[in-house]
Amino acid sequence: MTADIASIRHDFPILNTKLPNGQPLVYLDSGATAQHPKSVINKISEIYEHYYSNVHRGVHQLGDRVTSEMEAARARIQAFIGASATEEIIFTSGTTMSINLIAQTWGRHFLKGGDEIILNEMEHHANFVPWQAIAKERGAVLKFIQLTPDGRLDQEHYQCLLSPKTKLVAVTGMSNVLGTINPIEEMAARAHEVGALIFVDGAQSVPHLPVNVVESEIDFLAFSGHKIFGPSGIGVLYGRKSLLEQTPPFLFGGNMISEVHCEDSHWAQLPAKFEAGTPAITEAIALGTAIDYVSELGFDAIQQQEHVLSQYALQRLQEVPGLQIYGPLELEDRGAIFSFNIDGAHPEDLATLLDRKGIAVRHGHHCTMPLHQHLNIAASIRASLTFYNTTDEIDALIDAIEFARKRLRLA
Ligand code: PMP
Repeated sequence: MTADIASIRHDFPILNTKLPNGQPLVYLDSGATAQHPKSVINKISEIYEHYYSNVHRGVHQLGDRVTSEMEAARARIQAFIGASATEEIIFTSGTTMSINLIAQTWGRHFLKGGDEIILNEMEHHANFVPWQAIAKERGAVLKFIQLTPDGRLDQEHYQCLLSPKTKLVAVTGMSNVLGTINPIEEMAARAHEVGALIFVDGAQSVPHLPVNVVESEIDFLAFSGHKIFGPSGIGVLYGRKSLLEQTPPFLFGGNMISEVHCEDSHWAQLPAKFEAGTPAITEAIALGTAIDYVSELGFDAIQQQEHVLSQYALQRLQEVPGLQIYGPLELEDRGAIFSFNIDGAHPEDLATLLDRKGIAVRHGHHCTMPLHQHLNIAASIRASLTFYNTTDEIDALIDAIEFARKRLRLA
């Protein structure tokens, strides 16, 4: 199916707004947070207007309705990522929380001195610092897969790092800076050969690439609602049931217990064991609506549009004098995320000038300081696109870059 871009853009009201300076918005920052279709916005107001209540404890009709809608959202997420059971889907506040949950519980419980965790320098701080912290605490050792000059994980080096000491491989499905799509299925198979587990940071990959955790043999997967066209404050941790069952709880309190006595307490079954306290009720339900939107559009259409955009963006960006793109240039190995620098232009100045033309991009280290150190740069500009963007918007970006280059006396 070919994406009908006009009708897709009609679904996202914010894309048709003007900025305070009168410029039409060109939103190229979906990698930071994505915009919302009307169906998600409508769902949120429908809940608050008509049936908002607390979940699980409902002895009334409103409680029953939100509980069943939240569990239906869980089931939709289960199907979306190909998990075997709804108990394997834990609602968290986002990718960061999902990773910390496993680092702080599975990590503290199962890691011991001398165990090894395989990481790499392209990881977002969210999939880096929690492992660094728990490794220090447990006396475990971090090993880093080398990056190739074009920003991929060196698979031969990965193979060399794997050993019976390896307990976990933590890797992103798609780099939030380089756009690199990592070969997760292959990496999972190799990790399992030495008895290690694989934790996949799906923050950037799950909104853009189909995933099947069973077929790819992913042990843990994390992603955020706000990057998949849903609300912020909600996210998902997938864990294989047997692993989650062996893992102690993270937060303690209401909802996660089966019995509490003065001396001791017992934990609830999955998924409640990892969902202490009142969850982000509306957000969880609306995440289900966002997943419906993505599923109805379909990854074929999403990838087709993102492919067209990537091809055009790469071509146009490479025409700009002095512009260097980081990451692979082959379309099949990258997503529609483009980080770059322009000789002589400070990324912050460039981003400020682009903003004057209505172009929303990011600048900075994008929570990947080790990667920026590896690239020997302090910061970069990042344009991240998705299926609701157009080639006209890429032209607008290029025109704005020309405007900035003139202002900075580079042209
Ligand atoms: N991992 C990656 C690859 C990301 O891009 C992000 C968000 N920038 C995160 C993790 C963290 O996501 P969140 O802030 O939603 O927890």
